[in-house]
This record gives sequence, structure tokens and C-alpha cells, in this order.
Amino acid sequence: MNTIRMLTNELRLLWRSVLARLIVVLIASFAVLGMQAIDHADAMQFHGMGRTSLTMSLGASQYAALAGAALFAMLTLLVLSRDRRQRSRAIIEAAGGHGRVMATRIVALLGLAFLTALATLIATFLAHHALTSAPCELSPYLFSLGLILLPALWFAVLIAAALDLAFENLDIAFLSFGVVYFTGFTSPNYLFRWVQTSASVYSDFGGIEPVGRLVVYNRLFWTCLVTSAVLAGFSCRRHPGFSLRASLAKNAGRGILPATALVVIAVSVWVYANEPHLFPQDSIFRKGDLPRSEQAWLETAECHTQLQTHAKTLAVEAQYGFGKEPGPVEIEFITNAGLRIEVLTINGANAAWSPVPDSDRVRVSLPAGPRADVEFRYQGHIRYPRPGGLPGYITDHSVYLLEDCHWLFEPLTQAKGSVKMSGSVTAPAHLTVVTAGRLESVTQNGDSRTWRFAATGPELTPGLFAAEYSCQTFSVGPAQVEFYYSPKHETYIRAAGIANHIRDMLGFYQELMGLSAFDDLPLKIVETSVYKPGGHASLNVVTLAEYMLNRAKVSDPNTDPRFILRDMKTLAHELAHQWWGSGVAVAESGVWSSEGLAEYMAYKYLAARYPPQITHNIPGGWRGSASAHKYAYYRKDPRALERMRPALREKLLQNEIKGQAYSVLPLRLLAAEEHAGQEAIRNRLAEVFQRYRGRTLGWQDFTAIMGPGVIELEKEEP
Ligand SMILES: [Zn+2]
Repeated sequence: MNTIRMLTNELRLLWRSVLARLIVVLIASFAVLGMQAIDHADAMQFHGMGRTSLTMSLGASQYAALAGAALFAMLTLLVLSRDRRQRSRAIIEAAGGHGRVMATRIVALLGLAFLTALATLIATFLAHHALTSAPCELSPYLFSLGLILLPALWFAVLIAAALDLAFENLDIAFLSFGVVYFTGFTSPNYLFRWVQTSASVYSDFGGIEPVGRLVVYNRLFWTCLVTSAVLAGFSCRRHPGFSLRASLAKNAGRGILPATALVVIAVSVWVYANEPHLFPQDSIFRKGDLPRSEQAWLETAECHTQLQTHAKTLAVEAQYGFGKEPGPVEIEFITNAGLRIEVLTINGANAAWSPVPDSDRVRVSLPAGPRADVEFRYQGHIRYPRPGGLPGYITDHSVYLLEDCHWLFEPLTQAKGSVKMSGSVTAPAHLTVVTAGRLESVTQNGDSRTWRFAATGPELTPGLFAAEYSCQTFSVGPAQVEFYYSPKHETYIRAAGIANHIRDMLGFYQELMGLSAFDDLPLKIVETSVYKPGGHASLNVVTLAEYMLNRAKVSDPNTDPRFILRDMKTLAHELAHQWWGSGVAVAESGVWSSEGLAEYMAYKYLAARYPPQITHNIPGGWRGSASAHKYAYYRKDPRALERMRPALREKLLQNEIKGQAYSVLPLRLLAAEEHAGQEAIRNRLAEVFQRYRGRTLGWQDFTAIMGPGVIELEKEEP
């Protein structure tokens, strides 16, 4: 009874203080400011995205958490140090026990944090109606404010309390909180980001879940961590007249506090070590430089996949047919670290595999003989390589599996001729499944459906997508187009005439190259979530991130060139990959890449359709990234690269190569147009495409047709 009276007393005291009231108002105001965060984001493509409760609630909670954690820590330190500052501790000590008073004050501060989150919820709800006509949904606001803002405030109170108890010194507590606070929103490790989480945007298409699971795990980890910090803080609490050491011994004598602190620390370490969502050593980071065996080559692949969307898992039976050299051969498969192999058979007999240390790869030995059949059975969930730009996820409402997430294990072998792929995907009946290649049949079985498909391509490119899609079909010349999009974005898609843009681009490319990318396969254009920005092309499937299909308002590319022209360029680039990348596979090395050809084609289209004053900055951008390395700080001082952290060096050099892959080739093609003439370059490119359609094109083959000396990649930029 006495405790409750103490608590209500403390709460009343807090509520009467002007500082506390000001803090509540400030946090709610930051939340309202943050509701438009998407328009101030680093990534320009997000600006102008259709506003929804999801994007607005995330911004609100991130802004409010950033301000709120700092303010609440300050308040906590001031409140807890009050007796020390006013030298009234002795009285309190005598009256009821200092420890109990401190605990009551901490609980009162946690209560104030809860009221703040509630006030913020009401403020953002009211602001939502003023800012947008989009429907105001409660659950995204509850998720964001309840799982991002509120825990951030609570953690701030508890961290500050632990520091005050441990140091009993305001200056040291302030400084050490500063350090914990800055790591809390700047750390590249998402588990350390307790203030602002690493989610930069929520998807209207994919929902909160794919990034929400990272938020939830982060909160679990920090709940353990701050609990142990507070328990440790109480274990250090000084007794009057005793030193820290003597107080520690005295507290330890009472037993339960320090022992519980140690247990919770152990639990935190376990939670940290068993993080289930990320795999930082993912092969995606070393895609180009993993060696591929030349003694075996993939000829066929058959995979049967069950999507268990409720459990967020998949189960796969995958059979690979290899041609090979007669002797025994060792090859590696890239897997996904979240998928567990259950069975491996080679030529029908059970076989063993060995994991490659610190990687997501496994090694397999193929016995002597001209062929080998390998069958894997595995299941599990998809692990992400990093907390943003996800290459794959599974939820109840959408499934996004690029070949890059290796949901279908990829053998590290060289392609020799084309690969025949076939298989099936079984998914809950409310989902429409889109696979690479041709859809052969769909059969219903209870409340699931099985989609059978077949594809032939120069390499294994098994993109797999599913969602509650609407579909528009149309034809452009000989090409059949299937356009899959979320019914939620239909209004914008129709008003912006996206299908007309697609028609126009495909018609333009068909004319430019003289032929369609594929004779017999439909082109599938698929809306996907913003969790992987931009677009992607796998065989005859092109994906587009939702923001291109869901802008806040319809704009004319001629007059509003900023992100609308950028959307057009992304769309034109991804469609151009149907010719370069899918129709003709490019044997990429360094600057020679399908990206350069797709960029060039997209520019030709935009330059033909829009005035030069809005398209001229595209070659300008290429020039910038082609020569960026010359002006980079680390290129000015030759020893800078040597002194750098290896991880940073690798990242910078990789970005350099990536930027050049998109820029050097199109610049050289434009230069070649200058002396050989646009007509000649266009005819030769069309000839390259016609001769290599369905095959792999190397740099030598390309220059052989383009003519000697017409395009030189090695030449220095003038
Ligand atoms: Zn591309």
C-alpha cells in the first residue's frame, strides 16, 4: 500500500514539473514532423511516394525516438540525482530506504514514458487527418509507436538510471549516456540501434513484417540488456559511509540482485549470438569473385517448392543435372544460411556435403563419369545479408525471392549452352505466383494451389514472386506482356498510364533491335516491395519497386522531371535487360556488363521521347561516376588505400567498379555514335543482338561485330 502511495506521489511530482510537460509536448511535435520523413529521406526515389499510415507512422516514431531518448535520459538523470544535488539523501535514507525511493522514481519515469507514447499516438492520429486523405489505420501506428518509440524511451530511462546508480556522478553519467545514445542510431549493426531502428521505410505492398521482425528482435535484445544494466546498477548502489567496493560486497551478500543480473547478462549474450535473421557473410557480397568449376556444367534443374507463408518458411526438392569431365569433380553450391539441408543424393545414392567455413556455401564431390545428378532437399527461412535492400522474404501476403537470396541453391559451375529449368511452386490459394519462364498449369488442392513452370535460359535465374496481385495482359508487336500489380495501387497505375509507358518502351526497343527479346515467352512485369529499391530482371520477369507504381500524385515527366523521370529511367532500364542480360546473356567482367547496355538503351528511349534539357543530365551522371575514382580522396594519396580497413577498401573499390559498369560502356557507345554515326552503331548493335540471342556474349564477340577500335573500354576519359 505504502509503495503505491509512493509511486502515485512520484508520478504527481513529475507531472507537475514544467520540464516533464515540455518534454512530452516536444516529443509529440517531433513525431508530427517525422510523419513527412519520407520526403526528407536520403534516398531520392522515396520522395513523393504515396503516403500511407505505414510510411507516416514509421517516420513519426523514428523522429520522436531520436528526440525522446535524449530528453528522457536527461530527465531521468536530473530526477534521480535530485537528492544528491540537494543534499537531502540522508533524510530519505532514514525515512524509507534510498533503494526503494530510487526504484519508485524509475517506475514513475517509465509511466511518464508510457503516457508520452500515448499522447504521441493521439497527436499523430490528429495530424494524419490534416496531412493526408489516405485512410488512417491504427495498427501501423500502434506497431511503430509501441515498438520503436516507447521502448526507446524506456531504454533511455533505464540506461540513464543504471549509469546514475553505478557512478553516482552526473557528469560521468551524462557523458557515458551520450556514447550509448550515439551508437543507438549510428551503428551499422542493427542490434545496437536501440534509438532509431534501421528500417528506413515500410512497404505498403509488403507490409511491416519483413523489416518488423528485425525491430522486434532488436527490442528483445535491448530488453535483456537494459534489465541486466539496471540490476547491475542496483548491485553497485552505495550505502552511506561505504565505498563502492564495500557497497558491492554488502549488496552481493544479499544475493539475489547480482545473481539475477549475471543471469540476464548471459541471456543477452545468448540472444545476441543467436540472431536468427541476418547472415553477414552472405555470398551476395562476393558474387563476382567466387571461383566457378570448369569441370562440370549445369544442364538441367528441376525444383519443387512449398511456400509455407504462415510459418514464413519454404521447403524445396531440387534436382540438378550436370555434364562433366570424366574424373571426379568437386563443386560448391551457394545456399542460404537460413535453409537446412535434410537430404543430399548424388546419382541416387545418399551422399555427404561439407560446409565451407564462414560462408553460406557447401562442397559436394561428384563421382567419376560423364554426368552427375544431384538432389537436395532442404527447408527453413530466408536469412537476409543485411538489414536493408532485402533480396528475399516470405510473409502471408507477399513472397519475394530473387535468385540472389539463393532460395534455390546455386551451383558454382560455368554455363555451357543453355540451362533447362522446370518445377512447381505450391502456395496458399490467395496468392498469385509469378515464376521465370512459362506457366504450364495451375491446379487447386484444398486451400493451396500448385503452379507448374518451365524455362530455358543461358544461366540459372530462378526469381520467384507471389502476392495478392491483379493482372493486366496486353501485346506489343509479337511480345505478350503480363503486368502484375497490387490492387491497392491500381488508381495511380491507371492515372499515370504506366501500361502505356511500358508499351511505348517495348515498341521502341523492338524497333531499335529489330526483334523481340524472346519469341515464345511472355514478358512478366511484377510489382514488388520497396524493401529492395529499384528494379530487377530475371529471365523474362522484370520487377519494379512499388514507389514507381504508387506516387502521391500523377506528374508529367516533361515538367516534373525529378523522380518521375527517374522512375521512367528505371522502368526503361529494366525492360532493356530483356534484350541485354536476359535475351542475350553478357559474360560480365569489370566494366563490360549488361548494365552499361541497359543504361544506353534506356537513355536512347528517354532522349527520343523527352526534351534534351531534362535528359542531358543522364550522360552527365555517367561522366561523374566514370571518373569518380580519379577525384576520390583515397586515390589522391596512393598509400591511403593501403592504410584503410580491408572491409572499407573492398567496399570502396567494389562501388567504383559498380559505378563504372553502369557508366563507361554507355559513354563509349555515345562517343562511337559521334564518329561512326547513330545509324551505324544502331545497326551493329541490332546485329549483335540477333546473332547472340539466347547465347552468352563476351567482350571479344561484341567488338568483333562492332568493329575494331570503335569502342575501347580501356581508354582514359578525356
Ligand atoms: Zn540493371
